[in-house]
Formats: sequence, C-alpha cells, structure tokens
Amino acid sequence: MAKITIDGKVFEIDPKRTIIEAARDNGIEIPHFCWHPKLSVSGNCRMCLVEVEKMPKLAIACATQVMDGMVVQTASPKVINAREAVMEFLLINHPLDCPICDEAGECKLQDYAYKFSIGASRFDEQKVHKPKRVELGPHVLLDVERCIMCSRCVRFCEEIAHKPQLTFTDRGTHVVLTTFPGEQLDNAYSMNTIDICPVGALTSREFRFKARVWEMSSTETVCPGCARGCNMYSWVRNNEVLRQTPRFNPDVNDYWMCDHGRLETFKHVNVANRIKSPMVRKNDQLVEISWDEAIAKAASEFKSFKKSEIAVIGSAYDTNEDNYLLQKFASEVLGTRHIDFVRHADESFQDAILRRADVTPNTLGAETVGVRPRENGMKFDAIIKSIKEGNIKAVFVVDDNIASDPKIADVLNRLELLVVNFSFENETTRLADILFPSATFAEKNGTFTNFSGRVQRIRPSVATLDQDRSLDGFAMSRLDKYGSQLDRWAKGAKRDARPTWKIVAGIASLMGAKYKYNTAEDVFTELAANVPAFKGMSYRKIGNRGLMLKQKESVSSPITA
Ligand code: SF4
Ligand code: SF4
Repeated sequence: MAKITIDGKVFEIDPKRTIIEAARDNGIEIPHFCWHPKLSVSGNCRMCLVEVEKMPKLAIACATQVMDGMVVQTASPKVINAREAVMEFLLINHPLDCPICDEAGECKLQDYAYKFSIGASRFDEQKVHKPKRVELGPHVLLDVERCIMCSRCVRFCEEIAHKPQLTFTDRGTHVVLTTFPGEQLDNAYSMNTIDICPVGALTSREFRFKARVWEMSSTETVCPGCARGCNMYSWVRNNEVLRQTPRFNPDVNDYWMCDHGRLETFKHVNVANRIKSPMVRKNDQLVEISWDEAIAKAASEFKSFKKSEIAVIGSAYDTNEDNYLLQKFASEVLGTRHIDFVRHADESFQDAILRRADVTPNTLGAETVGVRPRENGMKFDAIIKSIKEGNIKAVFVVDDNIASDPKIADVLNRLELLVVNFSFENETTRLADILFPSATFAEKNGTFTNFSGRVQRIRPSVATLDQDRSLDGFAMSRLDKYGSQLDRWAKGAKRDARPTWKIVAGIASLMGAKYKYNTAEDVFTELAANVPAFKGMSYRKIGNRGLMLKQKESVSSPITA
C-alpha cells in the first residue's frame, strides 16, 4: 500500500489507484467533467488539476497514479486559480441556455459554475454558433453548442455498449460531436449517454421539455423489463411517471440500464385502458361493482367448486409477496394442487451487457416462494389441457395476459369461472367473470428476485386510492419527501388498484382464513420466516442494494450467473 497525504490527511492506498480515485474513496471530491469511474481515462477537460509536492506543474488527478509519500493539495490557491481558468475557458463558447435547458438542476457545468468559477465573464465577443437540434439517433438529440467535448459519450459507446457510433470532427472551437458516416446512435443502451453527459448537450427525445428536474420526485425502485432487475429511479410529477433513469448498483447494473427498460416499462402505468374498478360479468357484459362485492362474489364462487376443479396461475411479473400469498391461498384455502405460472423468454432480447432473455422481473422469485404444482398437481400446459377436457372448471389468473395466445383464449372460454386481476384491459380481462384492477410495479411495495438470486425492493412512485405504507429504514430517512408527496398525490389519485397479495387476502378472509396483513412488509416478514431461501431478510436489511437468496437451502432451479 502507498501512504499518501491529501489535503493534510494521510491515507493508505492501493498503488494502482489514481489520485482522483484515492480521493473519492476517502470522501474527497475532486471536480471533473471527462473522468467517469467506469470509462477509460481521457484526461481532456483539465478540471481535476491538483498540486502534487515536488511536481513542477499541476497534475491531472484522473491520470496520475498515487505513489508512496505523495503529498496532494486539491484546493490550494494554485489549484483554485487553474480551476477558475478551466471554467472560464469552457464557458467562453457555452450558451447561456440554463433557463430552457433540460439539464438545469442536474448539470455538472452549472453546479461547478456556482462552485468553482469567478462568477463573471470577461468575454465580450460573439460565441461560436453551432447546430442546436441534431438527431443523433431514435432517442437522443444533440445541441452541439452545449457540448464541452469531454468524450464520455464516445467512450461509452465504444467501451460499454461495444458499438462505436460517435466521434469528433474538426478542431479547436469548431470541434463537433457526430455519428460515424452511415451510423446512428441507436445501440440498445444509447440513452446512458444522456445521463453521463455532464452538460445538457445530449437530451432525450421522449423526456425533452416535459418537466424541470426539481418539479419531480424520484423513487428508488427496480426495472421490471427483464430478469436483470436494473436499479433505477422513477421520476414522477403530478402522479405521472415521466422518466426512468439508472441507479448505481455495482452488483447488478453499475451505472447503466437499457433503452427498452427506460422507455417501455412504465407506459402501461399511464395507459388510457386501465381497469378502473372491480367488475363482474352480467348478461355477458362486464359491469362495475364495489371492492367488497367483488371480493365476496369471488369467495362464494370459488366455494362452489371442488378443490380438484380449481387451478391458480401466478405471475413472474408480480412480486415475491404477491406470489407467496397467492400460492398459500391456493393450497391452504382453495385446496388445489394445480398451481403454476408462465415463463416468458425472448432469446433475441438477450445480450452480453445487461439484457436477459427472461423478460419478466421475478421468475426465480415466483419459483422460490412456491408457485409450483403440489404433489400430483398440474403444470401450466397440463392445466390448459385439463380445461379443454372439462376437468378444471375454475381458474384464478393474476397479472399475466395468458389469453394473448388465441389458442389459450379459446380454451379459457370453456371455463365456468375465470377470476382475473390485471392493471389494464387485454385478451384475458375480456374473458373474465370477475375482474380486479391490480396495482402496477410503480404503485406498490414489494420485492423482485432477479436471475442471479438478488432480492430487491420496489417502491411506489405513483399513488393509488389504496396506498400501502410499508416502509423500511431507507425510505424512512426520506419520509418527509417520500411520504408527504404520495399523500398529496393520493388525495388527487383516481386510480383504484390494489396489489395481488391484498386482493388474495381479501378473498381468503371471506373463505374462512385468518389473513391479517396490512402491508406488503407484513407479507414479506412471514415469507422470510417460512421460505428458507429468504431466511433472515427484512425490508430494512434488503435496503437499496438488495440481498442474495440463501441459494443452497431451497432454490429449486439452478441460479445462472
Ligand atoms: S455530448 Fe456531452 S458527453 Fe458527449 S462529448 Fe459533448 S459534453 Fe461530453
Ligand atoms: S436490462 Fe432489463 S432490467 Fe435492465 S433496464 Fe433493460 S429491461 Fe430493465
């Protein structure tokens, strides 16, 4: 280890680390634009200049390795002076766009202009003007004037997305970021360039001008787009999800997420055809009824069938809590052995970066909490066959559009009772005899288990009329912002949706079970006590980075890394 002194404090550092890394590891932030912890060092912005004893000139902290005995000053008068010069140089041609720039409020250049620049311009001449709206690809727009040529986006495409699509042309103040001839910025991870751009040069076509960042709340949650479970923030204004951005988790997704997860996975939260109220079929029409009536109707209908005539289909889109209570209800209350869920794989979606062929967030969780046939029970295909043969007469399907396959829709038509919960209208809800509106991933608390066995928290960013107040230590620390924001939105919330576990608990209670769960956290506490792979877990312990399943004890299928 090398002993080095930074700003008067002595640290023992791995000699392979650079000064900027050593300082960061020890809570000292050295300002920088072009350096990024997961990209190669380019050393072009000169913002991280520091004074190193016995070195004749200031050194760039991002490209200078630590050495035993090194003494570093990160805020000496010489360093401050150099930093102010770098800022002045960068701001010479940077437009004064902050009032209309999407990046304002989360812009490194803006922050540093307040912190490290002299606060006045000596430049009276005309700034260099460049194109303001260049379409680099389907999701990313470039304002060339705002670019400070840090090359982060260029390096990201080469080193992380493995698609070299961006480059610079021209020289000096006329340098322009552009795509290679015949190329577009259209790789599956293109929008990460927007996040890492330290200025507002790269903006999202989808989010552009929708909201200022300070008008939105951000909630730590997990992408439901595939079995990777990328950690992300859900950004909401007026109870509407406006964007999703990656949240750092070195064990899952580092700083990145794919464009599909970012753009597509929240669309169903805001769709017009959300199921607005519980419904029952009368004269071949679905008509709205109250929650109490729908739950009572489901309970009395299920009672009229023999145990062997009922099947329950869980969901890899639902949480561990939802699936745990569903399988418990199925075997303990309905008494059926026929419990399963559908696996959804799309090999074309998988890549060697983050995306997984399993396009659901919780296949491993559903398996691990027990959504599987009991002894002599039937799997999904056999259940469908048995419906066809007239042996299975009542089915409860949660949060999976199994009737999107017309052959299965035909078979479901033969049922005497189909109870469905789903968040929006689809082929399966249209066939339902009793229909419950279910909360989406953005409206509920719970956990997903990703492909590698990491159990991670999802949290509601959008309020519904029925608000679950499960909290853990992490959310507690933000109670003021988090709690009051949801409260405020809940008052104006029109969406009347509940998570599967709550719907199931309601039906079970009317069928004689004593299911006393008030929150998803209550369900999880019981799950962790009963399912060995979750032993010892709690929402507090899972925190915002997740916990691994105890693999050896009870995971039925092998975990692939
Ligand atoms: S567009 Fe942004 S990330 Fe790319 S080089 Fe310019 S300033 Fe850097
Ligand atoms: S890789 Fe999967 S989990 Fe990650 S952002 Fe994309 S869809 Fe979501």
